[in-house]
Amino acid sequence: MQNQQRLRVALQKSGKLSEGSIELLNKCSFKIRPAKNHYLVTSKELDTDFLMVRDDDIPGFIDRGVADIGIMGENLFVEYNLGHKDNKLAVIAKLEFATCRLSIAVKANGDIHKLSDLTGKIIATSYPATLSNYLAQNKIEAKIVVMHGSVELAPKVGIADAICDLVSTGTTLKENDLVEMLVLLESEAILVGHKNMSEAIKAKVKELVFRFQSVINVRNSKYIMLHIDKTQLPKLKELLPGYEAPTILELQGHPEKVAVHVVSEERHLWDTINKLKEIGASSILVMNIEKMIA
Ligand code: ATP
Ligand code: ZN
Repeated sequence: MQNQQRLRVALQKSGKLSEGSIELLNKCSFKIRPAKNHYLVTSKELDTDFLMVRDDDIPGFIDRGVADIGIMGENLFVEYNLGHKDNKLAVIAKLEFATCRLSIAVKANGDIHKLSDLTGKIIATSYPATLSNYLAQNKIEAKIVVMHGSVELAPKVGIADAICDLVSTGTTLKENDLVEMLVLLESEAILVGHKNMSEAIKAKVKELVFRFQSVINVRNSKYIMLHIDKTQLPKLKELLPGYEAPTILELQGHPEKVAVHVVSEERHLWDTINKLKEIGASSILVMNIEKMIA
C-alpha cells in the first residue's frame, strides 16, 4: 500500500509540456532537475513524487489513482474524456503555457477548401475521438486513420487527404505544403486531478495551485519605475495597463516631476519603452517579477 500522504504528480518526461511544467514547478520552490533515466523524482517540497511519463499516459495514471494530479494539454484531456466515459478526471487550473490548437489542415493546392469537401475523404490524426465527435456533430462522413506521430506526412505519401493535428505557429504545416482549414479546439496546459482526493492531498493541491497562480499572475507583468513630468501622468496611464494603482513619489529638487512605480502587463516591452521616452519619461527601470501574492 502506497503512502497516500505523499502528493503524486504525473509530468511529461520529455516533449512540449516538460520544459514549461518544470519551469513552473521550480518557480514554486521545487528543485526538479530532469535526468535521462529518472522516471521517479522525489521532492521534500510538499512531500511530492513526480512520475515522469509520456503525456499519453498521464490521464490514465490519474484516472486509475496512480497519480493524484498531472499536467497535460487540454487537447489530450478532451480526447481522453471522449474515449473514457465516467472517468475520474477533473480540471483544476489552466496554466497558460503550451498554447496550441487542434486543426484540420489540407494540401495547399488541393481540392478541399471547406468542411463539406471532407465527405468521403481520409483524415489522419492522433486525436480520433475528438475528430470523429466533431465530424459527427457536423454530419460529415469521412474515414479516420490513426497515426501516433509525423501526421503531417500523411497527405504527401497518400495515406490521407487531410490531417487533424496540433498547430502553434503553422511552420510545420507550411514545410509540408499544408494549410490550416479549420480549428476544432484551442488548447493550453492544464492541471488535472482525480475527482476524489483525501483531505490531506486536497490541502497540498490547494497550496500548489496557490503557488502556480502567484507565478502565472505575473508571467506577463513587469515592475516599472520611471521619472516623468506631472503633466504627462494622464498619457502614462494610456501606455501602461495596470496603472490603476501606481505609487507616485515626489522627486526632491524637481517639483514638476514625479517617480512612478507600477506593475504593468507588458507584452510589447520595447515598443512601450520607446513611447514612454516620447512622452519624456527618464530613468526607466524595468524589472522581472517572480511572484505576486494577491
Ligand atoms: P510524448 O513522447 O510524451 O508522447 P508527444 O510527442 O505526444 O509526447 P508533444 O509533441 O510533446 O507530445 O506535445 C505534448 C503537448 O504539448 C500536446 O498534447 C499539446 O497540448 C502541447 N503542444 C503540442 N504541440 C505544441 C506546440 N507546437 N506548441 C505548444 N504546445 C504544443
Ligand atoms: Zn504523446
